[in-house]
Amino acid sequence: PQLKIARPEDAEQTGAGKQLTATPELLAELAEVSQRLETAAPSEIITWAVERFGDKLTMATAFGLEGCTILSLLADIAPQTYVFNLDTGYQFQQTLDTRDRIADKYGIEVDLLKPELSVPEYEALHGGPLYKTNPNQCCFDRKIKLLHRGAAGKHAWMSGIRRDQSADRAQAPIVGWDKKFELVKISPLANWTNKDVWNHIAKNDVPYNPLFDQGYTSVGCWPCTRAVSEGETDERAGRWSGTGKVECGLHSIAEQDGSGI
Ligand code: SF4
Repeated sequence: PQLKIARPEDAEQTGAGKQLTATPELLAELAEVSQRLETAAPSEIITWAVERFGDKLTMATAFGLEGCTILSLLADIAPQTYVFNLDTGYQFQQTLDTRDRIADKYGIEVDLLKPELSVPEYEALHGGPLYKTNPNQCCFDRKIKLLHRGAAGKHAWMSGIRRDQSADRAQAPIVGWDKKFELVKISPLANWTNKDVWNHIAKNDVPYNPLFDQGYTSVGCWPCTRAVSEGETDERAGRWSGTGKVECGLHSIAEQDGSGI
């Protein structure tokens, strides 16, 4: 089944694009809910988010194992939710194919949001690939700006981050206020381990990116992602390897509050 997905521009055109404000009441609510959902199953957390925010809820996914897991749950709870992908122009073909396999299985058509400039235009403007010389700027132009666009008019976004992915992510609340994007951020899998995710995928036959069977433990853009070697315990070791960069800037846990944890 194919569903009509309301894109954020529609919300802006109808005047429904107002941002949420982080009032003390809202922050108190988020802290209370986050505490209450600390031991809840991901499907309960998603259900709360859908009931609380309705069509003001969105989700960004890079089709990682966690994103595909949330999409498999969302399919039963609210498949009409607007879900988007930051289609930087540097994604692996396997990632884009995963988008189609998810659409086939769940009827969720993830919107591929593209930067203003194509890859050739962008590289011509900067005299070559910026990911080599200034990956932070590249991520800003080709990811962060798209998140702002995808979340325009929304009040809350869901992400697939897990606490055991990194020291920074260990602080992620289940529900919190994301100061950077001025949105409520919901992380239904915060308490799941990598094993929990794999178990869910296997049990439910969830489509996933085949690169995860080829030594990749985290998949982003192809120029900035490599497979990890045996013995490398950091799940994100293959991202921006050797540059000192560890995040693209989407998940600034330090810029969240209202967590209650
Ligand atoms: Fe650019 Fe690499 Fe960031 Fe992708 S991950 S946007 S290629 S710097």
